[in-house]
Amino acid sequence: MDYTLFEAEKEIDRLSELLRKYQYEYYVLTRPTVSDLEYDRLFDLLTNLEKKFPALVKGDSPSMRVGSDLGSDLPESTHSIPVLSLDKAYSSEEVIGWMEKIRKNNRSDLSFYIEEKIDGISMVLYYRDGILERAVTRGNGFVGNDVTANVKTIGSIPLRLPRPYTMAVRGEVYLPLDKFSEINKGMEVPYANPRNLAAGTIRRKKSSEVASVPLDCFIYEGFLEESEGLTLPVTHKEVLDELELSGFRLNPRNHIFTPEDTSDNIRKFLDSETEDRSELGYEIDGLVIKINELDIREELGYTGHHPRWALAYKFESPQGETTLLSITIQVGRTGRITPVARVEPVLIGGSTISNVTLHNQDYINLLELAVGDRVTVSKRGDVIPAVESVVEKNEDNYPVWKIPDKCPVCGAELTLKGAHNFCPNPSCPDQVRGRLFFFVGKGQMDIENLGPETVDTLMSEGLIQDIQDLFTFDPAALEGLAGFKEKKIKAIKEGIAKSLNRPFKTVLASLGIPELGSRSAELLIEGGFRSMDSLLDAADKNDIEALVNIDGVGEVTAGIIVSELNKPEVRKRIDGLRSAGLQFYAPEEEASTEPQIFEGQTWCVTGSFEAFKPRSLAVEEIKKRGGKSVSSVTGKTTHLLAGESAGSKLKKARENGAEIVDEAAFLSLIGGVE
Ligand code: NAD
Repeated sequence: MDYTLFEAEKEIDRLSELLRKYQYEYYVLTRPTVSDLEYDRLFDLLTNLEKKFPALVKGDSPSMRVGSDLGSDLPESTHSIPVLSLDKAYSSEEVIGWMEKIRKNNRSDLSFYIEEKIDGISMVLYYRDGILERAVTRGNGFVGNDVTANVKTIGSIPLRLPRPYTMAVRGEVYLPLDKFSEINKGMEVPYANPRNLAAGTIRRKKSSEVASVPLDCFIYEGFLEESEGLTLPVTHKEVLDELELSGFRLNPRNHIFTPEDTSDNIRKFLDSETEDRSELGYEIDGLVIKINELDIREELGYTGHHPRWALAYKFESPQGETTLLSITIQVGRTGRITPVARVEPVLIGGSTISNVTLHNQDYINLLELAVGDRVTVSKRGDVIPAVESVVEKNEDNYPVWKIPDKCPVCGAELTLKGAHNFCPNPSCPDQVRGRLFFFVGKGQMDIENLGPETVDTLMSEGLIQDIQDLFTFDPAALEGLAGFKEKKIKAIKEGIAKSLNRPFKTVLASLGIPELGSRSAELLIEGGFRSMDSLLDAADKNDIEALVNIDGVGEVTAGIIVSELNKPEVRKRIDGLRSAGLQFYAPEEEASTEPQIFEGQTWCVTGSFEAFKPRSLAVEEIKKRGGKSVSSVTGKTTHLLAGESAGSKLKKARENGAEIVDEAAFLSLIGGVE
């Protein structure tokens, strides 16, 4: 589109304002309302317009500075190095072109370092004389938020280095995918991705709550200060080698391109990294290509937004175009309303997509989405499909779709909590169904032979109205129904009877109470709430404080749990389950009788073993004897139990001076295994 100067100015202002709003939601609130794809599209529109109308570029344009994650709820801290964003490319051709241009304009023998672009939270760690002094978020590039206490809970970040370096180190804090699914499962409003959950966690005020989320960190830059006797590294690779020796965790998939690498090699490498992306245990949103030689980096320097010596190669999410046929509503087990787009089936990234979540009304409003519209759908992070934009409005002039005022299932008036609508009726059939599916499902009570179809039959036959009825209905009433032969009915009875032995922790986490998933249940029990009665007693007294006093339980979580436990319908369920004889008490774990020979020691276990298969058996032996077990070698690791084919951890442990123990020596230390 051709803009006049006046129109361009208006459009630049509009885009800048919108991008600033999205930045605030993404970085500070950690709850973005638009996709990264849409954000990047608007950002590109802005930079293209600014290129055409350079006189209109303002000092505070989002293209001139990094998106700020600076929040007012945490103390501020000033950076002593530039902490910026990255310039971006979207094709391997652009990347190769950039590398060629850099070599041509500087030196033909330059090497390039390729790293994964971890989709987490940018972190700067400042060390003085080898001690971690401050951990600071990126903020606005000059000033960030001090989150030192929270970062100290991340096991792979060394607090003390083997050498007294004074330096700044940059890394990305992230949450591994398996941990994300585990934690997110119990959330009433689940986080859209691990990045948002990790970002929300690192900004919490109580660091014990951070400790309960297993965050990790990859380190990717180091800025060492000169000191006596230290020869400063001259390449990025040398810096990273030094950091690894100092106990930092580096990404083992880092790679270097030398001048001998052809364009074809580079293209193939970029393609294979893009393919491997779905196999990793963490999310990446691209690759970062960096000049290896530090003197050239210094010559090139920085813009206000990014270093000129690095480039991010951003992965495109696979996309397709389709038509929005209708929007239906799902009512979750907590009553949360989720609009779902039913689209004409379209093949994207190898799978056929016909349903796409639309999250909430805000999301629909932003897209200005109406039935009949042609839309683009992408698979974000290659997994979750999302409607990205409307490419053509429907011909019938259907208006933007609105969530109805009443629950389409039970007719109750919907209520609004935050950005989401809720059905307030706990007896709404879809809520009951969701609650039952959750209760009997894997990871919760895991009742054998009682799948969703059987639950549906029990509901439609009027045999059960809620979870407690599972233990009182008469299975004989199923006789004569299609698909329910004697053998199956017997198996259902057995499955239910067996579930009576599930531990209290499982029962508690299966109730479907928001914020009370398996992790919180474990924390509550370990924190002294060993029985249902003790919990109900705290709820009766509205004693939120008693829950907050437990390490890892925050005020919001405690408040929600107490208020849920005080709801009459929740009490009714609990009473029913108590009468049915479910486990409402967690006995104290027996104290270990083993001599505490590993007390005060930190062990890392690596390689494979004869006597310990799986390897976690060796970890148990260490813990039983008072030792701490960690998954990577850092400056704090005192012992490495090294089995067959112990790799880089062995090397690192040797360099760090940790004691190396082989299987035979370990067996003799613990006096053998039974
Ligand atoms: P960026 O995409 O420009 O990348 C820079 C960041 O990459 C660095 O700050 C660093 O933290 C990280 N990184 C990860 N691995 C790295 C490595 N090996 N080496 C160097 N850096 C590495 O990030 P940005 O400037 O924070 O944000 C821009 C992007 O964030 C946008 O492109 C968009 O995708 C997303 N965003 C989305 C919204 C939204 O509302 N959806 C809003 C703002 C930003």
